[in-house]
Amino acid sequence: MHYGMVIDLGRCIGCNACTVACKQKNATPRGTFWCKVTTTEEGEYPKAYRKSVPTLCNHCQNAVCVAVCPTHATYKREDGIVMVDQDKCIGCRYCIAACPYEARTFDFGEDKTYFPELEGDNPYESAHEGAFHAGTVSKCILCSDRIDSGDVSTACSQACPTHARIFGDLDSPEMQELIRRGAYVMRPDQRTQPAVYYLPR
Ligand code: SF4
Ligand code: SF4
Repeated sequence: MHYGMVIDLGRCIGCNACTVACKQKNATPRGTFWCKVTTTEEGEYPKAYRKSVPTLCNHCQNAVCVAVCPTHATYKREDGIVMVDQDKCIGCRYCIAACPYEARTFDFGEDKTYFPELEGDNPYESAHEGAFHAGTVSKCILCSDRIDSGDVSTACSQACPTHARIFGDLDSPEMQELIRRGAYVMRPDQRTQPAVYYLPR
């Protein structure tokens, strides 16, 4: 069992449904994005086009963030998911410096409500009260909480209207078949062995 994702760039329309679904599920503070989509304009008229690239933590097999963490707050589960134990994180940010993918965010402890004009927390934020600790690092957990409760899916892949984000066991024949269609990983020069693959447009 080795969880990961194949992202089909030919299917991504840059709608950011995945970004919103991740925010909704995890209630990440304002300015923290575990799931992102970067859209750029490529080429020249009349062949110009928009290219959208969804990203998340790569849950690397050779995770440098795990290697540099002095307190073992960052660790890898047996199913390949890289986690952060916020109770053990001392906020040294070695992992942020080491990660080649900018997949981690430090919580400076500012007021990060999305709705400062409202009195008190809104239901969305209060449902996740205490989930984020000031002075610690967070990142995508590949919906490990859902997996542990028996729902083997991620919020981002479920929300994607074009099925561009395909989550699953990388060892399965279905995922292997997708990877064989020419999938590549980001920054192979870093030798981190990402568990997130991209199919070219
Ligand atoms: Fe660690 Fe960065 Fe790889 Fe995620 S993408 S496992 S944070 S090195
Ligand atoms: Fe792309 Fe799917 Fe995310 Fe929309 S939801 S931006 S199509 S990956």
